[in-house]
Amino acid sequence: MRTLRTVEELRAALASDRRAGLEIGLVPTMGALHEGHLSLISRAREQCDRVVVSLFVNPAQFNERSDLERYPRQETHDAQLATEAGADLLFAPSVEEVYPPGFATTVEVLGVTERLEGAARGVEHFRGVCTVVTKLLCMALPDAAYFGQKDAQQVVVIRRLLRDLNLPVRIEVCPTVREPDGLAMSSRNARLNADERAQALSLYRALIAAAEHAAAGERSAEALLDAARAAIVPVEPEYLALVDPDTLEPVTQLDGPALLAVAAHVGDTRLIDNLILEPAAVPIFTPNTEKAMTTCSA
Ligand code: AMP
Repeated sequence: MRTLRTVEELRAALASDRRAGLEIGLVPTMGALHEGHLSLISRAREQCDRVVVSLFVNPAQFNERSDLERYPRQETHDAQLATEAGADLLFAPSVEEVYPPGFATTVEVLGVTERLEGAARGVEHFRGVCTVVTKLLCMALPDAAYFGQKDAQQVVVIRRLLRDLNLPVRIEVCPTVREPDGLAMSSRNARLNADERAQALSLYRALIAAAEHAAAGERSAEALLDAARAAIVPVEPEYLALVDPDTLEPVTQLDGPALLAVAAHVGDTRLIDNLILEPAAVPIFTPNTEKAMTTCSA
């Protein structure tokens, strides 16, 4: 696997593949790779002829300077992991390569960026995400780009971005990869001490508590959120919301699949997680069973 630093090198490396009609897959990451990232790379490997992994800690999407400064960086190890998972090229540009002096253009998606993460982290966060994803797509010109359900709102935002800008890229979404106890894998988990690691599990517990109530037939959003709130203690959620998976508007009833999303600080580390809740199947009464029941109760 080769590591490339400039857009020119990346384009040159992919030019003949593109001319030959090979399918190119891009997996955008900020590094500190774990099994979650590797699942995206493996999926790209299965589906594409060439797999490009980008590794860029994007300053534009960090709303807290200390979060950016403390973000784990381990390029040599990442390169080894990406190779093992099947990457052909690692694109690891400098900040100056991505944002040269005088850089003045941003990409902003309205609406779906204003809720959940956008409300908590400010509009700069998704402006930074949208700008860098658009740039990475323009740099690599992939046929498909791979994202994780772990960042559910990011997927919604990027789908909207691709549609609105008519960008001819297929988006592939891979399920959230979890630790054996259920904690969603995240590059930030490395910062948790033992106590915080135990507390971090409450986010998953909260999601599961709501899912269990949904499976038992509960459809009221407020009741489902109450179940989640009771299970997240002692962690204080920054938000805990049940929303439409496409518009991210809050729902009041679980009438179809809905996204339960949570964010919380555990110590100094901000974590997010989510689960799609489905309403429990309603028993179907055919005219005959209805009649039988009426007969019984009569
Ligand atoms: P990041 O390096 O955090 O920007 O993540 C890069 C990509 O990996 C994003 O599309 C994330 O949604 C995805 N990702 C991060 N953690 C996980 C996980 N636990 N499971 C699946 N995908 C993940």
